[in-house]
Amino acid sequence: MSKYVLSQPISQVKYVGPQKAEELEKVGISTVADLFYYLPTKYKDTTEILSVAHVHERLQQLALFSNLSDKLTVRGIVSHVSSVYTRTRKNITEIHVSDSQNPLREIHGIWFQQPYIAKSLKEGDEVLFSGKIQQKGRKVIMYNPDYEIVREGKLTVHLGRITPMYRKCGTVTTPYFRRFFHELKGVNTQFQEYIPTTILKDFKCDTLPNAFEHLHYPDRQTNIKMAFHRLALQELLELREEFAKERKLQEVKSLPFLKFSEVNKYLPTYTKFLPFALTNGQSDIISSLIAGYAESKEATDTLLYGDVGSGKTIVSLIIAALWLDAGYSVIMLAPTTVLAQQHENAATGYFKRWKKKSPIIKVTSTAKSKKLLATEPTLFIGTHALLHKDKSQFGEVGLVIIDEQHRFGVSQREHFVTKKKKSPHVLSLSATPIPRSLAHSFFGFTDALFLDERPQKDYNISSKVVKQEKLDAAYTWVAEQAAENKKAFLVFPLIEESESLQATALKERAAFLQENYFQDIPTGLLHGKMTDKEKFAVLEKFSRGEIKILCCTPVIEVGIDIPDASIMFIHSAERFGLAQLHQLRGRVGRDGSKAYCFLIPDTEEENERLAYFCDHTKGLDLASYDLKNRGPGNIFGTKQSGFIQLKVADLSHFKLLKESETLYNSLKEKNIHIPSIMRAKQS
Ligand code: ADP
Ligand code: MG
Repeated sequence: MSKYVLSQPISQVKYVGPQKAEELEKVGISTVADLFYYLPTKYKDTTEILSVAHVHERLQQLALFSNLSDKLTVRGIVSHVSSVYTRTRKNITEIHVSDSQNPLREIHGIWFQQPYIAKSLKEGDEVLFSGKIQQKGRKVIMYNPDYEIVREGKLTVHLGRITPMYRKCGTVTTPYFRRFFHELKGVNTQFQEYIPTTILKDFKCDTLPNAFEHLHYPDRQTNIKMAFHRLALQELLELREEFAKERKLQEVKSLPFLKFSEVNKYLPTYTKFLPFALTNGQSDIISSLIAGYAESKEATDTLLYGDVGSGKTIVSLIIAALWLDAGYSVIMLAPTTVLAQQHENAATGYFKRWKKKSPIIKVTSTAKSKKLLATEPTLFIGTHALLHKDKSQFGEVGLVIIDEQHRFGVSQREHFVTKKKKSPHVLSLSATPIPRSLAHSFFGFTDALFLDERPQKDYNISSKVVKQEKLDAAYTWVAEQAAENKKAFLVFPLIEESESLQATALKERAAFLQENYFQDIPTGLLHGKMTDKEKFAVLEKFSRGEIKILCCTPVIEVGIDIPDASIMFIHSAERFGLAQLHQLRGRVGRDGSKAYCFLIPDTEEENERLAYFCDHTKGLDLASYDLKNRGPGNIFGTKQSGFIQLKVADLSHFKLLKESETLYNSLKEKNIHIPSIMRAKQS
């Protein structure tokens, strides 16, 4: 039996020590069990071991080739060790490994600048060597091979096996992890399996103790797969359980308000009297929503995913009009006053075309507090301020539309439960749903509809990362473009906690740019500290072209529609979520003309996320990328954007999701409790 238990602090494990314990703690490893959850990222297979003689034979067979391209692992006896310094003070350490049967056959291991290796190996040691073989004249050489001394009666830790590779954390690199796990061998048997063996067999996965065994002490690739499968399922079961509980909390059980089919007699009017023809996608979604309202047994919760500019607004307004016809009020929530204003304008315009008399009331914190009325079905359009109004003023609410849902987070449904204790339907719109909502829809807890056709011809935006050293040239280019009547947004992130500090910082940067690059170009400022009136005034000017360059905070992120803006500069780009970047990029090239999005990271190192962003234009791909992202680091607003950190499972892996659902249901049927193992530590 091992001397360790799963719950023991990691610091008590031999070889860990206080510094490494601290570093492990930072990535959430504080107990022995936590260490087991830290899974390898890949495996190196060095199980095929050749003798020195065998290598020579192979080389003879391949006489025409001077090198063997694959890495080989060789076993032999150290017959010579030397460590010398060249005239230029470079150290060369060389050992010869020979065959126990045929001492004349040798392989030379050569390392540069690693003199300590000569101290750890001595003549007569039996060793494993792994690396690429090269032939130089008659010499057979391995440069910088991995090596390990074979000790009588002991298993090797690094070579001669399938070796797990771990993501480094601080100074704790793969060899350390291997050492820790070597020390903890057998402790994994303490994990308790709670799923009956018969069920596990059906799903072709390991038991928990075996899964951990096979992941950290693997012997065959097939086992690794089964082991990962078990843990991926475990993780999804736990997530499913978590969501099921959340849903219980949120759920307001009620019947739908009415059979929708009875009232959609005006639908043809709504679709006909528009300045454009609806796309097939838009028509299909309207039909699906209507069918949902007619057939559903409870209030529906639908996520309408459609990329930036796909035309979600008109879809939601037609649906809103139908609810008004049915005799209910409709709430339309938008994240900013600017957007609420834009929607009010749109709704007013469409209602006029439709000769629709229903009142439209805008509710923002700054709008003059009109007396709200509920005497007839009303369309309320507004910001968060809506949530603070006495809900009895809204009358019976049939539908809540949440535009740019990713900016709101959890369901706002509770706020609008009606006097008769009926729950409204919820329709959320987003181009980049928050990961949590995406996950909800992947699990089937919410319905998702996809609008994947854009009415206009596709955007024509080039995205590029610009290094700090190229910034000077980039600003000069913007100035030239502006001189040719192109419009540019320069976005500066919210670095300061306080909005007023933020505004000051923005003013300073804008003044600097104006002085050094944009002397003759009209520029404007837009930030959260401005009043709505000031904001609209600036946007108006920008829209009319009286301003060519707009320096702003990410307040412009959602919805703003300046069709001919064509340049977007995003400073400190690495600090934004991909969804946010995508929203910002969606502000340019809206009229279909050539546009540019430049990302300017603060740091010099290559950024995989930003590279991914530049190569991908679909909001859903980007949202999924961040969904899978396991370490959001210091991306803005990760908390409210609902990052889900998964260790193993991939939420976009459809088959796995289905399996987890079946497994979940069969466990629930048998009343088996699902313990929190993988996700225990997350809030
Ligand atoms: P989003 O899905 O990003 O909210 P909007 O609803 O704001 O997009 O639509 C973007 C633009 O496309 C608007 O100016 C809208 O009037 C226009 N639009 C919507 N549907 C169509 C259509 N079927 N044909 C042409 N233009 C459309
Ligand atoms: Mg929109």
